[in-house]
Amino acid sequence: MKTSRSFRNTLNRLTEKTGEQCFKHSLSVKKNMGRTSYNLKEVVPFDEELGSYPIDILKNTKTGSVYCPECRKERTIERESEMILKAEQGHRLETTSKMLKNKSLLVDSTIKEATFETFKVTDEATKVLKEKAVSIVSSILSGDTNNYLLVGEVGRGKSHLAMAILDRVNKDSYKQGKARSCVFISIHAMISKIHNGYGLSDLEYQTYRYTDNYFKELANRVDVLVLDDLGSELGQINSKTEASDSVTKILNAILEARQGKVTIITTNLSENRIKLAYGDRIESRLKDGLENNAILFTGTNDKRVNKPI
Ligand SMILES: [Zn+2]
Repeated sequence: MKTSRSFRNTLNRLTEKTGEQCFKHSLSVKKNMGRTSYNLKEVVPFDEELGSYPIDILKNTKTGSVYCPECRKERTIERESEMILKAEQGHRLETTSKMLKNKSLLVDSTIKEATFETFKVTDEATKVLKEKAVSIVSSILSGDTNNYLLVGEVGRGKSHLAMAILDRVNKDSYKQGKARSCVFISIHAMISKIHNGYGLSDLEYQTYRYTDNYFKELANRVDVLVLDDLGSELGQINSKTEASDSVTKILNAILEARQGKVTIITTNLSENRIKLAYGDRIESRLKDGLENNAILFTGTNDKRVNKPI
């Protein structure tokens, strides 16, 4: 430890040695029959300038505070790295929590603001659905990595509740200081964005954001992902409608990236229709970790009457 002479002089004026030694940093000196040996606690290098081991506990003559300079230095370094760590964590927390607003891709912008508070409970059926959705939040926050399938006809509030789940998980996990990243993706919007990219020139494509790789990476990164309205990208559905190879490929890659993470899928397709449209592989991936987590939106009032969702 080298200290500049002027600083040392100032220090000398303000401080005096107390005669005590720091337990942690001292080299206690033992004199044995003219020979000097040291009991090493922790080696502090010999300070040439001071001509001694900087081990003495000092007393500030002005304030009366007593301290070991080495301990004080260590504490300062510790505090600084703690502050840096805290700032980094805070930044990460902010960024993670903002993903829901920044990375979501929606067709219907009213869904962006959907919460449990704005979900209209109109009868017993909508009440049960809301309760189930709230219980999904608890399950996600407790660390379960199930998949959820919200199945029902258009206009039953599936997308609303799916977004409400993300909104609550996002806020509550943020409050707990361990933000879970949540993103809502409309499958229809995702597929159109990816397909739009195919029409671009090579040069344009280089800077195009919404490539299939972009969505794969997002799916790989996000803790809780909603894939909204599976089947909407198929257009008019009849019993023979099949998804194109490129759509099946994209969905497969995304579901593969979701293994071990929470994925909530909304759809108005029945299980059989899903199998027919996307094949066994996607159907079985959807059922992976699903067990009893399919929520059926049947028998509810058509919520489009109140609000276009
Ligand atoms: Zn010390």
